Amino acid sequence: MLHNFVTATYVVSGVLFILALQGLSKHETAKRGNAFGVLGMILALVATNFAMGWTDISGDGADLVAVLLLVVAVGLGGVIGVRKALKVEMTGMPELIALLHSFVGAAAVLVGFNSYLDAPHANSFHLTEVALGIFIGAVTFTGSIVAWGKLNGKIASKPLALPGRNWLNLAALVAIIVLTVVFVQAPSVLWLVLITVISLLLGIHLVASIGGADMPVVISMLNSYSGWAAAFSGFMLNMNVLIITGALVGASGAILSYIMCKAMNRSFISVILGGFGDQAAVGPAVEGEHTEMSAQEVAEALAEAKSVIIAPGYGMAVAQAQYPVAELTKAMEANGTQVRFAIHPVAGRLPGHMNVLLAEAHVPYDIVLEMDEINDDFADTDVVLVIGANDTVNPAATEPGSPISGMPVLTVWDARKVVVFKRSMSAGYAGVQNPLFFRENTSMCFGDAKATVQAILAAMPQKAIG
Ligand code: NDP
Repeated sequence: MLHNFVTATYVVSGVLFILALQGLSKHETAKRGNAFGVLGMILALVATNFAMGWTDISGDGADLVAVLLLVVAVGLGGVIGVRKALKVEMTGMPELIALLHSFVGAAAVLVGFNSYLDAPHANSFHLTEVALGIFIGAVTFTGSIVAWGKLNGKIASKPLALPGRNWLNLAALVAIIVLTVVFVQAPSVLWLVLITVISLLLGIHLVASIGGADMPVVISMLNSYSGWAAAFSGFMLNMNVLIITGALVGASGAILSYIMCKAMNRSFISVILGGFGDQAAVGPAVEGEHTEMSAQEVAEALAEAKSVIIAPGYGMAVAQAQYPVAELTKAMEANGTQVRFAIHPVAGRLPGHMNVLLAEAHVPYDIVLEMDEINDDFADTDVVLVIGANDTVNPAATEPGSPISGMPVLTVWDARKVVVFKRSMSAGYAGVQNPLFFRENTSMCFGDAKATVQAILAAMPQKAIG
């Protein structure tokens, strides 16, 4: 009876997770999707607690300890998780996600060791699951920690370029395969320890070899790895809900990575193998004179403009400028100006970052367009406001010899006038200088993006503010 209840609950959780993914694929249904995911997870946790020994509590009481331990662990984890989630800034989300992936990886390694020590004479199939689970868990663990370090600047975002790095990766993979075969033939914890150590090193090397500009793909790839690690844990623990959830996360992460690779014109295989192309390239030095515009001058240009496109980036998120940007949009629309937003697929620090910020500030979805939908329209646009974006509007990407070469970018420079809002002339996340700043039709408007947009709003002619 209880077994049926647990199984049925796992099936319902699995369905809710699928509905969650479906909901999260559209702005309009994202909140509902999130709610499905939360509900699915609560049900899965409750059912797991039951499965862990509720039946036996009335018996010898031994499993009461297991249940209590679980409840305490879930409670503690829940409190830490809620605190973290409430405190984290949107710009810190990728770091938090990377850290959470590392927990999934570490858990898979522990589950693997536990599973082996629990049944050292299990059949070959189970032993293979154990070795694979530990391998993927360990790669996810260290890979995610390196990604976390790179994202928060604790580790240099420059790619590590060890000589013969592909051969090193290949040698590690071959060693892991050989050790897995040996482990299955003659099980011993020693082989598992060796697989773990090599996998941990492989995880470090794979992510350390990837440069800053390609971190978006790495994050979604680690997301996928953490899913597969969870799925293997599910096999080891014989827990269907974990297999379903892990497979959903693994597959959706892989699809997202593929989409991002396409968006950035990167080879999926090369990124999986850790780094690609001329990693030593830093891009050509850019020299020239830039011109500046004051908030007052920008306000005047906007009052005259018939069409404006706003290209937001990471700086808009840092400055939390989305609210005054939304107000500015309304003011320009009231003035009869057509205003649209151009969203680059990797703008900000996580997929969909800009869409979330703009939705938060109630910017209507229908004026928020993807890069492919709007790139051809820049040529017919009076003014482009680049708000805290840099790499995603860098024309250096269209030339060879730079770490971002080949990445499609927003061709903002085709517009009649481009105004760039940032605090200095410094490079973007990829560390590549931006020739856009020196173009004839570009002017810099220096300062914190929020303060600048507020100053422009204040300087807008009264008719425009209406
Ligand atoms: P960038 O990170 O290239 O540039 C952001 C710019 O914002 C900086 O040049 C900075 O210049 C400016 N800035 C920072 N703070 C402020 C502020 N308070 N006010 C005004 N300006 C500010 O941004 P993009 O969005 O164009 O590109 C995203 C980059 O991040 C890409 O390289 C992408 O690969 C990478 N990335 C993306 C992820 C994703 O999933 N979207 C994940 C991880 C990395 P200054 O200091 O002079 O103000």
